[in-house]
Amino acid sequence: MSILSFQNPATGEHFGSLTEATPEQVQQTMERARIAFTAWSTTSLAERLRYLAKLRHYLVEHGEDLAQKISQATGKIALEAYMTEIFVTVDTIRFYEKNAMQMLSAQEVPTSLVLWPKKSYIHYKPMGVVAVISPWNYPFQLSLIPVLSALVAGNTVVLKPSEITPSTGLMIEELFRAVPLPDGVVSVLHGGRDVGQALVAARPDKIFFTGSVATGKKIMAAAAEHLIPVELELGGKDPMIVFEDAHLERAANGAIWGAFTNSGQVCMSVERLYVHERVYPQFLKLITQKASALRQGYPEDAEVGSMTSPQQLGIIRHHLEEAFAKGAKAVIGGQVSHGSMFIAPTILTDVTADMKIMKEETFGPILPIMTFSTEEEAIRLANASPYGLNASVWSKDKTKAQRVAEQLESGNVCINDVIISYANPHLPFGGVKQSGIGRYRGPFGLHAFTHSISIIHDPGTRKREVNWYPYTKDQKIMFVGLTHFLFGKKRKWSRQTIRAIWREVQRLF
Ligand code: NAD
Repeated sequence: MSILSFQNPATGEHFGSLTEATPEQVQQTMERARIAFTAWSTTSLAERLRYLAKLRHYLVEHGEDLAQKISQATGKIALEAYMTEIFVTVDTIRFYEKNAMQMLSAQEVPTSLVLWPKKSYIHYKPMGVVAVISPWNYPFQLSLIPVLSALVAGNTVVLKPSEITPSTGLMIEELFRAVPLPDGVVSVLHGGRDVGQALVAARPDKIFFTGSVATGKKIMAAAAEHLIPVELELGGKDPMIVFEDAHLERAANGAIWGAFTNSGQVCMSVERLYVHERVYPQFLKLITQKASALRQGYPEDAEVGSMTSPQQLGIIRHHLEEAFAKGAKAVIGGQVSHGSMFIAPTILTDVTADMKIMKEETFGPILPIMTFSTEEEAIRLANASPYGLNASVWSKDKTKAQRVAEQLESGNVCINDVIISYANPHLPFGGVKQSGIGRYRGPFGLHAFTHSISIIHDPGTRKREVNWYPYTKDQKIMFVGLTHFLFGKKRKWSRQTIRAIWREVQRLF
């Protein structure tokens, strides 16, 4: 049995351990979740939401303590943990409490006259057991929000949190024990890749995965074996476009927060900055001053914490070395010291589109900057990426900003802001291109945890339908006549068609 030990990456402190789940435990957990599904899926939505309200109260009461524990697991600043992990989760719970009833109620849709007297509606049906596999960068909310969305929709859940931040997985398990939920409704399987693979092989009814592109592809391939629906929330290389008419001070504040918050370990970090050439010198000066003033470390009042995953340091070092070898210059920062989990906020100039630092996800506090001269060029540069998760456009010209935003190949776009689209639970969230498949959050995202079942209801009082056997010549005349009348250029009835319809209607009763 493998042991996962808990270590604070910022201080090196060891503070506990746990044992990885065995393949047998994965099977047993899945069976318990299947059994629990029968009762949970028939529990009223009002009751499910009462559990969520209890959880919300718990999170509000214990939020600061939980944020401290997340900070200990990740090396991130406790304030950031509170804002982005606790607040966002509580806000999402409230959103479901207010809106889930309407979002999950049967939705009546129009039925055309030809289908009279039928009625049609959509019934949102829970899918079964949802497997949630989550990453380490926001280990709390990127686990909890999909779990809660699946629960609200009537599914039971098996969560496999990241092995890089195992103490947060344990914390989530304790949270659900504190509510408490009925047995088997939410289970946590601790462990790494092997446990994740075993969970996928145990054939859940849906897989919700957040993590890297490489793992996403493997999960999708494994899921294809049994046609398990998969939702993938993957990486990004998000562009920020600053036009010359932007509020430069605001854009500079946004750029350094967007690039350095959580030490750049955000799927929606600003990883490529494009600035109009006319304001470039001024903008570079502003961001350099602001980045130089950031307080890095792990004390209470720090602003930039440590990296979380030691593996990520190697990728960042490699990207930087390649960029420097090709001529990039660090205005500030630029070193990845061996033996330290802290990387100083770094601004790079003289970068080119062919460098890895401008092409691949770096996932660290590195901000490479390039210039552009026209709107078309900015759009072309921003779209020249295999990723498409988030992007930002900065301009005081509303029409221009929206025109550019709508041309970006990105699942989410912020205008005069960064990252924040995720914070509105009414909006769908997800990527295009290599950044993922599917959407969660918002009504669309909640429906993604259901099967949208179409139900068409005939009163059942007539003996047959116009399209049923036995076929007659009148049926053909009627359908051809109807097609011309309803969809053609000349909307006229012929006597022959009217007679045919009359005879066909008689045959219905
Ligand atoms: P990762 O792909 O290495 O691991 C993610 C999870 O998958 C972990 O729990 C891991 O144990 C599990 N796993 C690994 N191999 C598996 C397999 N073969 N089968 C089943 N499970 C497996 O990702 P990471 O390093 O933890 O997270 C960082 C990545 O996540 C970055 O690329 C980041 O951009 C992305 N991310 C995306 C979003 C989003 O919403 N789009 C949010 C946060 C992070």
